[in-house]
Amino acid sequence: MKGTAMIDADTAWAAVERRDRTFDGRFVTGVLTTGIYCRPSCAARHPRRSNVRFFADGTAARAAGLRACKRCLPDDVGRDEAAVLAAIDEIRQAEDAPSLAALAQLTGYSPAHFQRVFKRAIGLSPAAYARASREERARDALSVGDSVTGAIYEAGYGSASRFYENTKGRLGMAASAWANGGAGVTIRWAVVDTTMGRMLVAATDKGVCRLSFGEDESELRRRFPKADLVEGGAAFGKLLADVVASVEAPGDFAHIPLDVKGTAFQEACWEALRAIPPGETRTYAEIAAAAGNPKAVRAAGSANARNNVAVLIPCHRVVRKGGDLGGYAYGQDIKRELLERERK
Ligand SMILES: [Zn+2]
Repeated sequence: MKGTAMIDADTAWAAVERRDRTFDGRFVTGVLTTGIYCRPSCAARHPRRSNVRFFADGTAARAAGLRACKRCLPDDVGRDEAAVLAAIDEIRQAEDAPSLAALAQLTGYSPAHFQRVFKRAIGLSPAAYARASREERARDALSVGDSVTGAIYEAGYGSASRFYENTKGRLGMAASAWANGGAGVTIRWAVVDTTMGRMLVAATDKGVCRLSFGEDESELRRRFPKADLVEGGAAFGKLLADVVASVEAPGDFAHIPLDVKGTAFQEACWEALRAIPPGETRTYAEIAAAAGNPKAVRAAGSANARNNVAVLIPCHRVVRKGGDLGGYAYGQDIKRELLERERK
């Protein structure tokens, strides 16, 4: 038996009366009239106190001629504990929350039985425990200022979309322009000459919603048919200057606000792109993994292609496996130039 001394009979009986599972494994309750012994937390109806005798463990109870209760399986306490600890390890290390079936298989129990054992020990089902521990870790990671994608990855979320569901509204980009063709939204824009060529910059009051090369107002009109398009303006000037500076000397533009909208996975990919340090590159596979779904390599490629804000969401930092430059919406020359500037 665990612990230091045999628990006194009054303490033991009190534990039985309140079915205190923390006493499981510390003694067993023998019922002389039925010939059965139980763990303290057994859910069966309580015997009369006068019929009860306490034993240190199942071995002692069996020596007295008693049999293990088939309902609470008192001899499985150590096994239960080991199973729960193994499951907790698995849950905390796995990238995706393990299924109940997988945990049951790991521990050698049936799924239904393991669910009961786990819940009795922890007070939560394995699935609820996995959710709670992930949320806790996500909060911890966020509070020290990691990027969103970093936090998702640290927390071991299987996919970014589930992360967004689980953290309802705590995160996400402030998208306004992309709903309903931009209805009710004012978009300020300008086309400026840069050393990369003619660049279109458009922004709502929330942030930059389109940055592209070689486009003009007609392209903007096509994407935001219902928005109120306003060229230039003083309010837009400072943001525009910031954007131009970040293109001429790319690197530090994390402070420039964006107004973009994609699926949860696309947004996670965009966050992953923004987390690539200037001067470095990644493959689509690495972006997919950083966005929480290592298998979604094609989807990561499509998220890259759907990026509306070139440079500031640095899709030019994605290259092919093996180092080949790969494609770019505005041509390889601009991509190569951006990467060369960032390497300096
Ligand atoms: Zn029992």
